[in-house]
Amino acid sequence: MLAAMNRQQSYEAYVRACTLMPGGVNSPARAFGGVGGEPIFFLRGEGACLFDLDGNRYVDYVGSWGPMILGHAHPMVVEAVETALRQGTSFGAPTLAENELAALVVEAVPSIEMVRLVNSGTEATMSALRLARAYTGRPAIIKFSGNYHGHVDSLLVAAGSSAATLGAPDSPGVTEGTARDTLVLPYNDAGAVEHAFDEHGGRLAAVIVEPVAGNMGCVPAEPAFLETLRRRTAEHGALLIFDEVMSGFRVAYGGAQARLGITPDLTTLGKIIGGGLPVGAYGGRADIMQQVLPAGKVFQAGTLSGNPLATAAGIATLKLLRDGDVYERLEQRSARLAEGFDDAARTAGVPCTVGRCGSMLTLFFSPDPVTDWVSAARCDTARFSRFFWAMADRGFYLPCSQYEAMFVSAAHTAAEVDATVAAAGEALREVAAG
Ligand SMILES: *Cc1c(COP(=O)(O)O)cnc(C)c1O
Repeated sequence: MLAAMNRQQSYEAYVRACTLMPGGVNSPARAFGGVGGEPIFFLRGEGACLFDLDGNRYVDYVGSWGPMILGHAHPMVVEAVETALRQGTSFGAPTLAENELAALVVEAVPSIEMVRLVNSGTEATMSALRLARAYTGRPAIIKFSGNYHGHVDSLLVAAGSSAATLGAPDSPGVTEGTARDTLVLPYNDAGAVEHAFDEHGGRLAAVIVEPVAGNMGCVPAEPAFLETLRRRTAEHGALLIFDEVMSGFRVAYGGAQARLGITPDLTTLGKIIGGGLPVGAYGGRADIMQQVLPAGKVFQAGTLSGNPLATAAGIATLKLLRDGDVYERLEQRSARLAEGFDDAARTAGVPCTVGRCGSMLTLFFSPDPVTDWVSAARCDTARFSRFFWAMADRGFYLPCSQYEAMFVSAAHTAAEVDATVAAAGEALREVAAG
């Protein structure tokens, strides 16, 4: 067994943070609730690597939970932000950069004819739902268990069962009244969707779905499931919303919808389109988007929306993705990583299954395929925790939960991927030894 790395300064920073912020963090995904122990504090990132307060170096597979598809501190993104910074950081008035980022999004994403920029993925899904309810004049929405759409009240309803259940709130502070209009169904279950539309079709404003789920680990949707969503929403006059905050510009330049050839009515984006700065967006058919204020009557606003720094980082990132061969490289590296994990688990005798779509992947500690929240919940999370720490001590930073996807970036070299696979072999032998 390898000696644990010295992380004394991270530990001290965390103890101090806990006196200042709830749980010592500004977002719960950063706390190590899923693996035990204390979070690692980072000083800087460069390419595929992160450096912690104690000077330890890690190959990073978190990528800020998705945005850093080009790696950390990409020189052209840094330069774009520096240029914008010197010209003033916010005017509360229109800029050319907003046109440019909006045009890049409209050109790339098949469903988006018009777009509104916001500041986070949460804002995007919240606004898209308001718009869907306004457009259809209906109250209810369908979401799927294990899908995360940000911390919007009416979407913090994840506890599903195999039958269509009326949602119960997932967090204190979310009222039953808010949850009542959210119908929660099992992911990848076309039959449950058919049944829900038969029962509730006339009340449904929208179906919101992650077309590649990343928030229960990486669980791609089956094409037939998404086709059912497309057909039933169209038949009943409800809107189909693809939440591509994670999958947008990640699984393909035009998102999962470009990869799968299924076009939703509305799409939400975030993460990559901000190049590591806070951005979100929602967009879709022009006749729907024209309902948003001030073109229409659906209220939605933001003091810092379309902020010059965030748009600069986003434009630089999207142009590099559009004009390069990034996606082919990501596919090769990610396939190699997935195969390597698979082989290493088999060799170590640890039952595992890999979920992957493009450069999103998860090593599930379960022998069975993971297709929905019920099968995901069967994973051996104690084994995942041991694996996480065994990898961290070898200098590989993975998501600190079995139920978060790993992200490969364009900065990961073939040699780094091979080193990751070799370390996983050792780590999985440790896991097998108990
Ligand atoms: C991250 C994420 C969100 C929330 O985005 P924030 O910027 O964290 O508010 C919403 N939907 C999906 C699919 C996400 O992965």
